[in-house]
Amino acid sequence: MLKGLLGPSPPLHDPLADPAPNALAEVKTTTCYMCACRCGIRVHLRDGEVRYIDGNPAHPINRGVICAKGSAGIMKQKSRARLTQPLLRKPGSARGAGDFEPISWERTFEILTERLGRIRATDPKRFAMFTGRDQMQALTGLFARQFGTPNYAAHGGFCSVNMAAGMIYTIGGSFWEFGGPDLEHAKLFVMLGTAEDHHSNPLKIALSKFKRKGGRFISINPVRTGYSAIADEWIPIRPGTDGALLMALLHEVIAADLIDRDFLRRYTNAPQLVLLTADEREGLFAYDPEAGPPADGRRPHNKLVWDVPSQSVKRAYPEGIAEGCEPALEGHYVLPDGSRVAPSFQLLEERVAPCTPEWAEQITGIPSARIRKLARELGQTAMRHAFELPQPWTDAWGRRHETTTARPVAFHAMRGLAAHSNGFQTVRALAILMSVLGTIDRPGGFRHKAPYPRHIVPNYRAFSDPAMIRPNTPLSSAPLGFPASPEELAVYPDGSPVRIDHAFSWEHPLAAHGLMHNVITNATRGDPYRLDTLLIFMANMAWNSTMNTMAVREMLNRKGEDGEYAIPFLVVCDAFRSEMVAFADLVLPDTTYLERHDVMSMLDRPISEFDGPVDSVRVPVVPPTGQCKPFQEVLVELASRLKLPAFTHTGGARKFSSYTDFIVNFEPQPGIGFLMGWRGKDGDKHLRGEPNPQQWERYAENNCVFQYHLPASMHYMRNWNREYLDFAMDKGWRQKNDPVQLALYSDTLQHFRLAAQGKTRGRQPPEHLRERVAKYFDPLPFWYPPLEHEAIDTAAYPLAAVTQRPMAMYHSWDSQNAWLRQIHSSNWLHVHPDAARAAGVADGAWCWVESAWGRVRCRVRLSEAVEPGTVWTWNAIGKASGAWALAPGADESREGFLLNHLISEELRFGAGSISNADPVTGQAGWYDVRVRLRPAAPGEPAETFPQVRAHG
Ligand code: SF4
Repeated sequence: MLKGLLGPSPPLHDPLADPAPNALAEVKTTTCYMCACRCGIRVHLRDGEVRYIDGNPAHPINRGVICAKGSAGIMKQKSRARLTQPLLRKPGSARGAGDFEPISWERTFEILTERLGRIRATDPKRFAMFTGRDQMQALTGLFARQFGTPNYAAHGGFCSVNMAAGMIYTIGGSFWEFGGPDLEHAKLFVMLGTAEDHHSNPLKIALSKFKRKGGRFISINPVRTGYSAIADEWIPIRPGTDGALLMALLHEVIAADLIDRDFLRRYTNAPQLVLLTADEREGLFAYDPEAGPPADGRRPHNKLVWDVPSQSVKRAYPEGIAEGCEPALEGHYVLPDGSRVAPSFQLLEERVAPCTPEWAEQITGIPSARIRKLARELGQTAMRHAFELPQPWTDAWGRRHETTTARPVAFHAMRGLAAHSNGFQTVRALAILMSVLGTIDRPGGFRHKAPYPRHIVPNYRAFSDPAMIRPNTPLSSAPLGFPASPEELAVYPDGSPVRIDHAFSWEHPLAAHGLMHNVITNATRGDPYRLDTLLIFMANMAWNSTMNTMAVREMLNRKGEDGEYAIPFLVVCDAFRSEMVAFADLVLPDTTYLERHDVMSMLDRPISEFDGPVDSVRVPVVPPTGQCKPFQEVLVELASRLKLPAFTHTGGARKFSSYTDFIVNFEPQPGIGFLMGWRGKDGDKHLRGEPNPQQWERYAENNCVFQYHLPASMHYMRNWNREYLDFAMDKGWRQKNDPVQLALYSDTLQHFRLAAQGKTRGRQPPEHLRERVAKYFDPLPFWYPPLEHEAIDTAAYPLAAVTQRPMAMYHSWDSQNAWLRQIHSSNWLHVHPDAARAAGVADGAWCWVESAWGRVRCRVRLSEAVEPGTVWTWNAIGKASGAWALAPGADESREGFLLNHLISEELRFGAGSISNADPVTGQAGWYDVRVRLRPAAPGEPAETFPQVRAHG
């Protein structure tokens, strides 16, 4: 039975009572933020109070559909866990005790301006700002860059950066906000490792139509929850082994020649010749010296192919794609200068040759016959059920195509693939499988969403030069980006990391989203230096957003020999009393999504559709509660007081009076702003145009969303679509209009490998990291066991443990929500009957779950909807006692538990340790942990372990 919220509960409202006679009923539109999906909603108000929330039928994302979370937003507004005023830790009170005094915003800004101003004037990198699932990274990143600190990142590094980076470095785009499955034209849909919120309502709507039309839906997942429950077929797989499955599928479709050879020749680097010489260009692409410098991630086009009819070498462009040329995909050749070469596809074939279904069966647990059948289904649907859409388009080299070929096999994948220490190469394997089937930006396959596709490698360099960290000076480039070579890493001359999270160092070179899960550990240790102030926004780092939770809570309180905290000043901004709040020195009370302005911008993470760009806003539908202030507003105010150049006129006067003023008037390029709709003085320009002072009003009048429909000739093949590439450059979405050839073979990765092997003259990794970089920066995909498996005795911990996100809760956001906690207030460990029998644990009983790093006690629920070697539970249901304004005896703390206690944030590495993360991107290895079970002893307390008090 659900135990109550703190204190007696007077009814929030009486739904049966007659409205007051003169009650003012209103309906306002805005954008949901009960998860990250960003559906359009209508908020129904009476006398200014929220009474009801439903989906907005006029919104392009959800078309009126709303989920349980979305409609429960009213209870978020009414939550007793709201923070309502700025709080300062009382002098003499211990961090973690939650002993605060309320202060004014003016005092808050004075404290922050004095402290941050001093840091900025001396050593800006000693200020770090890490944000959770915020949707305004264009602003938070700008603030950090202007401040002059490289120590900034958002949540992506512990979410799905492997998915983003693995796909973007291969096909120029990725799933969810940046692209997705075209279920309108697909006949077969294969989903791997996807939770409910990626991409929630829109995907559910599309799946419903797809299944009604007779589409076949296969879900590959260790657990049959959520989407898997409605799949036509569920294929259970062991966690962390998807890469092996994908390699075997590549093996099979190539062996059966169920691949799109014309597509590979014209639109990918499959035919381009790789040097097999044992020198400093080994494994890089051969090039024509007369056509300029050799190809690399920034200038990818100077390459060669072998023309079969003439048996001669030709430049990849324009000769290689001219009529009459037939570039070889297979074979070994010798260039006129004697260099041995092979098309990169030949090397891919050689790589997957030993990856038979029998090999994959041993790793994945999927029978080899099923792998063969799946490969056949994929290949035959792509090649034999292809059809032509009567949609003409012109390619980047000027050839007009009268139709667009559909390859009706669509995939979708997210964190289930990404959150492993082998996730980057796994995602590369998936993107390559999609490419050899010819499904990229084609009807029925994967489709991009503007502003994607990006260049491969994207033209966004991360800050890298430590000499450019200077007092009172903005960084020379943004803190986050996409490195294309070792020269773009953020390292000191000795190869050590510049950033507190070690992102973009040799430990995690392509850490495009940073490594939030290591910030507190590194900062406490002073590795590579001590911080002064750490600002955490919307991330529960003292609980479910961190690995090794109890140790991290101790680190937050740790003091040095001088009696000072190892992290001297902690600022926490949140709307609710999460477990993290008690550790703050200064608490900034944020608003809810119903109380503020927000933008979902093309500069950041828009809500674009396949047929064109879409951005949207939130507008306040109710006033802020208490003294809550939107974090956006706090940042603009702070930036103005600190006189950060982008926020200040010459002479020091502030440029922007508020966040809304900033959004309207800030232009990173002339005519390009945060919002693309209703630009121009009169609001008659779209996509590009001067600022419009009435822009917020126009959005508010138009369901808070702006959608631009591209002409049909720009709907497909956008990596190579001349009209689209020119248009995208004109609108500021791309810096170049050259085609984006798919990188089946990644010479970018090979550049890092050559450096690690000591074959190049440029930057090289420190000795202790050479072998690691050389191994994992393989230009072709490969499967290797998750790194945790090398660090522990897997026989002693025979089970994989993962979490799933329920459809009624988004991370930890909703345990303070009176409606949603009626659906989930406690959690069980779901165990296959065979595994339970082997461990001697019974259905409904208490058991211990032990990893090499920690242990929890929880209740067991037997289930056949799980791969037998896997146990799982819902994510972030367990709470510290008293957190989130829950009563101390609430279900969440007595019967809920966190798997995080079992996961280490670091693994042993050489004589020291290294992040428990993907060695390429730094993606947190959440799903790599191995565990064993044993029954709780008779007489043990019937409650979860550990029991943790939120305060004191
Ligand atoms: S899917 Fe997410 S954004 Fe959409 S209504 Fe549900 S909670 Fe809101």
